[in-house]
Amino acid sequence: MIYLDNAATTRTVPEAVEAMLPYFTEYYGNAGSIYRLGSESRKAVIQAKETIAATLGAEPNEIYFTSGGTESDNWALKAVYEAYREKGKHIITSSIEHHAVLHSCEYLKRQGAEITYLDVDADGLISIEQLKRAIRPDTILISIMYANNEIGTIQPVREVGEIAAAHDILFHTDAVQVYGQFPVDVEQCHIDLLSASGHKFGGPKGAGFLYVSKKAKIRSFLHGGQQERGRRAGTENVPGIVGMEAAVKRAYDTADGKPAAGKLERVKMLRDYLISRIEQEIPGAKLNGHRTKRLPGNVNFSFEDVQGESALIMLDMKGICASSGSACTSGSLEPSHVLLAAGQPPELARGSLRMTLGEENTMEEMDTVVEALKEIVERIRVCRL
Ligand SMILES: *Cc1c(COP(=O)(O)O)cnc(C)c1O
Repeated sequence: MIYLDNAATTRTVPEAVEAMLPYFTEYYGNAGSIYRLGSESRKAVIQAKETIAATLGAEPNEIYFTSGGTESDNWALKAVYEAYREKGKHIITSSIEHHAVLHSCEYLKRQGAEITYLDVDADGLISIEQLKRAIRPDTILISIMYANNEIGTIQPVREVGEIAAAHDILFHTDAVQVYGQFPVDVEQCHIDLLSASGHKFGGPKGAGFLYVSKKAKIRSFLHGGQQERGRRAGTENVPGIVGMEAAVKRAYDTADGKPAAGKLERVKMLRDYLISRIEQEIPGAKLNGHRTKRLPGNVNFSFEDVQGESALIMLDMKGICASSGSACTSGSLEPSHVLLAAGQPPELARGSLRMTLGEENTMEEMDTVVEALKEIVERIRVCRL
């Protein structure tokens, strides 16, 4: 099997599995209990916050554990709207956000919020000029993803943060595709809220976090007990949190808390090799997303006269796991909202194929994939004639 869907989820790294096991069998106490067994769990949660905060340039009490990226995005948007509604009801986001953000915005719109969706250019980049023009006296939040999960385009997050800070507007970023891949500094980028998800970088599914700066006054999303200093009720997912922490340590494994450059360079090298072979050897292949401002592992192409779904099924028969559009929209033949926003015609957008690489992929696999794709694209096109 060749796994090329790391943007959908990743294999749990062995360090994470190993770190989690004792928290199922031995240290299973509730982190809220006062006896010693509970305090083992409590200590583990506090330690995980310290580890994660250090990678972001944040403080441990600014990290709130959640069930993943979807919950973090929902919480950030809905809680900011609730807490700052008096100040204003205007939110700025982009048209290519993950559905966890877009559908939360639609929900808030029904509650009275006014939403501005920034356009993107053909490479998937927002325009800083359009962002500046969109700001109103009643703007309370800018939510722009760090990097897109479908086409891999990395946004000018630092510039967005500087503009938000200059206007005293909160800045949330969905960093699910970035955190655990390369360094993120919340202070330097003026980020007030940041969403991350463990299973996108080698941690377990169902564990993520929301960074909330001390500056942002938001309320609880889940109501119940006093966990997470009263802001996120529910018994802590201690094994999940510990597993995510282990994946964080592996990702940011150097003395300065940054990922080893070699790891990123290797994935980038595989990415660029795959891109260049597809461009040279498959006619009618169009690269989606920005060529250089791009996630290290992201390859996304549209193929003329090819349905993405058909190509996926045929790739699967050859043991290759890839995706068309995002995982959440697969199964439907709707063209990706991201490609449509980038100005791609629906016929071409339906032929998109996303291959997201990780540390485990090899050069030989890239060669196998290119040969398989050449055959599949040709076969689909012949059938259409
Ligand atoms: C996967 C993903 C999410 C959702 O995260 P879950 O932990 O799966 O809920 C949100 N945003 C982006 C950009 C993603 O890639």
